[in-house]
Amino acid sequence: MPSNSFDRYLEKTRTLADINAAIAVLSWDQETYMPHGAAVARAEQIATLSTLSHQMTVADEYRAILDEVKVDAANGLLEEWEKAAVRESVREFEQASKLPEDHVRDFARAQSLAQHAWKEARDRSDFSIFADSLAHLVQLKRREAELFGYDENIYDALIDLYEPGMTVAQLRPVFQRLMEGTRVILARIRESGAEVSNDLLTRKFDPEKQISFAKETVAKLGFDFRTGRVDLSAHPFCTSFAPSDVRLTTRVFSNDLRSCLFGLIHEAGHGMYEQGIDARFVRTPLASGTSMGIHESQSLFWENMIGRSERFWQWAFPKLQNQFPESLAGATPSDFFRAINVVQPSFIRIEADEMTYNLHIIIRFEIENALINGEIEVADIPALWNRKMEEYLGIVPKNDAEGCLQDIHWSFGGFGYFPSYTLGKLYAAMFYDQAKKDLPGLEDEIASGEFGRLLGWLRANIHQHGKAKRSAELATAICGKLLTEEPFLAYMTAKVEKVYGLGELAGNDVAAESAPAGA
Ligand code: ZN
Repeated sequence: MPSNSFDRYLEKTRTLADINAAIAVLSWDQETYMPHGAAVARAEQIATLSTLSHQMTVADEYRAILDEVKVDAANGLLEEWEKAAVRESVREFEQASKLPEDHVRDFARAQSLAQHAWKEARDRSDFSIFADSLAHLVQLKRREAELFGYDENIYDALIDLYEPGMTVAQLRPVFQRLMEGTRVILARIRESGAEVSNDLLTRKFDPEKQISFAKETVAKLGFDFRTGRVDLSAHPFCTSFAPSDVRLTTRVFSNDLRSCLFGLIHEAGHGMYEQGIDARFVRTPLASGTSMGIHESQSLFWENMIGRSERFWQWAFPKLQNQFPESLAGATPSDFFRAINVVQPSFIRIEADEMTYNLHIIIRFEIENALINGEIEVADIPALWNRKMEEYLGIVPKNDAEGCLQDIHWSFGGFGYFPSYTLGKLYAAMFYDQAKKDLPGLEDEIASGEFGRLLGWLRANIHQHGKAKRSAELATAICGKLLTEEPFLAYMTAKVEKVYGLGELAGNDVAAESAPAGA
């Protein structure tokens, strides 16, 4: 028998973690290998396990154990990480105990069916196939938000699930300043008249070779294939059953080099975070990322700060060219760097450039806010989506598949998740600024394909802490400041100046092309 309350607590969290991992395995299989006809059976299986997990989380016995360990924590009997684990369990308990069992079962079933409907709707580009299941999910999420409670805005209760403490009131001004900064940079590109071609990315690229190059690249960055694997799915994602079992997915198009490679680098950023969590946290609530925003900071860090940098491609481009000698004939690392950083409004969020990506997020944030607040109906989404695309990005999707049906998030009821992506970009830029200060010579290492010290820095400052620290605590400890959009806008400005040669137009007459590489 366990000898004290923390041991009894650990026994419970381990059982809960195992059930939740089993749910994650079933969900991963649903997205990768499950036959089409299994949708209803799988929905029942996931619903059963979700109900079991919920019952355990809200059981009186578990409540009693949590009460005991809370006392131990208050009496200084627990280590820091143990106190953090208890804090997270109490938060989960309080959230779960507000949800009646019938709601949990209804939601899990609605979620599975909606994912199935979404896939069919997207394949046939027919929003009406998805509309009823989406409306059902919205109704259930509104009920959930009411049960959780909120101060100002019902949508805050859902954002808080992914980014604890974040609210619409805090996000609006950040998004506003980003919109303004984005407009300034976009205007500079437009006024310069400079154009950069990305044609070389849409030539013919053998899918098998793309997958193997992407896998080799993420292995080099530090994704550990002894504790992870890669498969294909309609929408790329990362899921972790344990730090020793991390699954990534990607997708591949023979006429576009970006989707598979950058999709996998992105997911590997999530995956390396999960693989780097402190071993003591396994099968406790701390064995995951701090928040979705911090999780995105890790994927976007590798995808954008590193994977779309000039120095990275000084090292990687010859290898890529070696894989695709015909399609990339005559191209230089600089051509490639510029091609992958073209700023151009586009329909698909995950293929958008770093600059206009945030506008995609703002559209989803505004639609979700209106939907959860009951200001619009599900049936209004396609028209509203297209109107906002025209207003913010100046383009209109020709069908719903490349419009409001493109993302998987709503099909699992993930309202409140999208803002995390933009938060991730802001945190990533803050962290990269600091990493460059802490690791002199870092950029030269990147240019020679050395990522060990950088991964070590991320492990020490972010990964190992799992969920033991909150976003604000991490940002303050690492950068000495709270969330700010300034490093992101500065980083973006510098990159766009390089890609479009805007520095020359601003007064420096030396042609960038004639400068030595890496200068
Ligand atoms: Zn991501």
